[in-house]
Amino acid sequence: MNLNNRGLNGKVYLIGAGPGDVGLLTLKGAEYLSSADVIVYDYLSSNSLLSMSKDDSEHIYVGKKASDHTLTQEGINNLLVEKAREGKYVARLKGGDPYVFGRGGEEALALSDAGIEFEVVPGVTAGIAAAAYAGIPFTHRGITSTAGFITGHEMDGKNESSIDWESIAGLGTLVFYMGVRNLPVIVSNLKKEGRSGTTPAAIVQWGTLTSQRSAEGTLDTIVDVVRQKKISTPALIVIGDVVNLRSKLNWFEKKPLFGKKIIVTRSRAQASSLSKELRELGAEVIEFPTIEISLIPDNSNLDRAIDSVSDYSWIIFTSVNSVEIFFKRVMSIKDARILAGIKIAVIGSATAMSLNEYGIKADIIPEQFTSEGIVKALESYKAELKGKKVLIPGSLIARDLLPVSLTAMGALVEAVPVYENKTPEYTAEYIDSIFDKNLYLCTFTSSSTVTNFIDILKVNNRNKYISKINGASIGPVTSKTAKEAGINLSIEAGVHTIPSLVSEIVNKAIKKENK
Ligand code: SAH
Repeated sequence: MNLNNRGLNGKVYLIGAGPGDVGLLTLKGAEYLSSADVIVYDYLSSNSLLSMSKDDSEHIYVGKKASDHTLTQEGINNLLVEKAREGKYVARLKGGDPYVFGRGGEEALALSDAGIEFEVVPGVTAGIAAAAYAGIPFTHRGITSTAGFITGHEMDGKNESSIDWESIAGLGTLVFYMGVRNLPVIVSNLKKEGRSGTTPAAIVQWGTLTSQRSAEGTLDTIVDVVRQKKISTPALIVIGDVVNLRSKLNWFEKKPLFGKKIIVTRSRAQASSLSKELRELGAEVIEFPTIEISLIPDNSNLDRAIDSVSDYSWIIFTSVNSVEIFFKRVMSIKDARILAGIKIAVIGSATAMSLNEYGIKADIIPEQFTSEGIVKALESYKAELKGKKVLIPGSLIARDLLPVSLTAMGALVEAVPVYENKTPEYTAEYIDSIFDKNLYLCTFTSSSTVTNFIDILKVNNRNKYISKINGASIGPVTSKTAKEAGINLSIEAGVHTIPSLVSEIVNKAIKKENK
């Protein structure tokens, strides 16, 4: 989008956010979202969409829970007009598609009446996406050649339904939005118009999200099924023979970790790769960062080390954070050429990859991704290390095994703290809400994630949960800390890496399933 040639007025983009899975936002939607000045969004739009917006954009929540309209529809229309008149580019994010039961048409009419320029970016509507993620094609050759979207909201109150039941009862596939509360009425109207009680029917709640739940039955049984399984809004109801294809096409719910609630305790900055992999495997990830990485406010020691970096023969990076903070500082005062000739060792493959991003290959990556592993690997360089200066930019509370062992080998070690691990604060209510859920697993990717997690529980008087945790650990050092803290571990990664931890989690889940 070219924002340079702005006129007096701004412009409004009515963007379909898709049904929930962020990946279903269109490329055009993402582009407009990331360059808009103002984002006006609803309850159903995923919060992570907002993280795509530019830093100085304004975010306005206008609510869309049935009982909790933060703004009336008229208020929303006026807001869009007003913001555009201020010359702003406004992204109006709406769940699914803006023109499918989303009142997007009303917003567009208000803009048109006010003479405001607008564009519509269609979205993937829940009726198609949630059904597809529940294993149901909207139409299917030989099964149905007609299909329709119907609102189940129409029948609220005492007003006569404006739905012509006689003509829709014969559609091959019927998809009802907002129909959970009125399901008994829907079923009875369809049967009254001659639809057989044995017609397959399904319900899909939170479709496309890892919290998706679905169930199926027939017109005769679906009301009871929904009640028994306690499925509620937001959900779609799909009626028709296409529902039968679910037994073969239910790909999403067959993912190995589908529906499993897994806690990720890494810092928010580091959680993304683990969370992403687990989500892709179907898990419902609960991010519960136990570490906050903050820079050491005083740069002077790091700056001194960078200034005289040619005095060092080795640099050892013990985490991705150390690499990133060190190189950002190097780049802001000098450039990477000052490191020419210096040998570099890293603790493991993730740290090596982060180093690669700065165009540098590590000389040493130990076989075992721990401090002990680096010490072992450096033992063969003992003669070379003697009397030489070694720089270790790391955490303020780093284990001293590495400096002590290297000093014993005759190296002149300088450990420079470049970041600090802090423990974030949580409320007891929040912790209860997490442990209330049927948790499957809690992942620990370092000893600090264990000790900080335990500290958080203790500070909030929630020690009772410790023995309930089913833990997965990234390696022996973390496992030892966890066991000492009283945590039951069912999984330990074969190699000290996130992919290895994830594959152990999957293996375990598959084994359990096959039992
Ligand atoms: N414009 C939206 C629909 C808004 S109406 C779209 O095109 O999808 C809101 C209704 O949509 C909900 O009551 C529910 O019936 C349905 N819905 C939206 N997202 C859903 C989801 N992820 N899973 C199941 N149903 C969903």
